[in-house]
Amino acid sequence: MLKATGLQKSFGDHEVLTSIDLQIGKGQVLALIGPSGSGKTTVLRCLNGLEIPDGGEVAFDKGPTVSFTSKTTQRQAQVLRSQSAMVFQNYNLFPHMTVLENVIEGPVRVQKRKRAEAIAEAESLLARVGLAEKRDQYPHQLSGGQQQRVGIVRALALKPSLLLFDEPTSALDPELVGDVLRVIKELADEGWTMVLVTHELAFAREVADEIVFMDQGVVVERGHPDVVLRAPQNERTQQFVHRLL
Ligand code: ADP
Repeated sequence: MLKATGLQKSFGDHEVLTSIDLQIGKGQVLALIGPSGSGKTTVLRCLNGLEIPDGGEVAFDKGPTVSFTSKTTQRQAQVLRSQSAMVFQNYNLFPHMTVLENVIEGPVRVQKRKRAEAIAEAESLLARVGLAEKRDQYPHQLSGGQQQRVGIVRALALKPSLLLFDEPTSALDPELVGDVLRVIKELADEGWTMVLVTHELAFAREVADEIVFMDQGVVVERGHPDVVLRAPQNERTQQFVHRLL
C-alpha cells in the first residue's frame, strides 16, 4: 500500500534521514522505534507531506507517487496529505473548537463533505471510543487520554488509507495510557494500515507485524517483532531494547 524509497532529509547541514526505505502492506502495522532524535517523527512527517524530503520517493498503491528533489515544492508534497492522517503526541486539537467541531473540520472544510453526514459519522466514531457525551465540550475540559481519543477519531474521520501515530501515549499520565492503546489495538485488529512511532515496546510487540529500529537517521534493523525485540542482531538495537523492555 505504501512504499518509501531512499528518503533523505537535512535541516541545514544536519542530515536527519540518510536513506530510509519503508514498505507497508494493506492492513499491516509497522512500529518505528529508536532513540530520541533518531528521525522517527521526521519519517512520519515526510510520509504525510508535512515535511519535504530532499530526496527519495513516496508511492501509494492507490494514489500519487512523489519523487523528491531539492526543488520539490510544498504543493507537490501536499498531494500525499490526503492519503494518511496523523495522530500527534500532543493531540494538536484546536483549543477554540468543541470536540465535534474538531472532528468535522477536516471532512467539511478540506474534503468538502456534507456537514450533516460528517456530524453523523463523527458522532458514531466518538461513541465507539466512549466519548459520545463529550461532543460539545472543549479540549481543555477533557483528560489527556480523552483528548488523544478525540485525536484518533479526528484522524479516522478523514478516512485515510494510512494512519500515522507519533508517540500517541508519551504525553499521557500512566493510568491513561491503556485506554488509548486499547483503541489503537482495536483499529489494528479491524485491519487499518498504520505506522506507529512508540516507546511502548511491549505494545509494539503485541500489535506490530514489523518493527523498524532507527538510529541516527538510518534503519539499523528491521523484522518480525519476536526477532527484533527478543533476539536483536545489531548491538545498538540490543542496547536500546534492553533499556526499555
Ligand atoms: P525522533 O522522532 O526520533 O525523536 P525527530 O525526527 O523528531 O526524531 O528529529 C530528528 C532530528 O532532527 C533531531 O536532531 C531534531 O532536532 C532534528 N529536527 C527535527 N525537526 C527539525 C526542524 N524542523 N528543524 C531543525 N531540526 C529538526
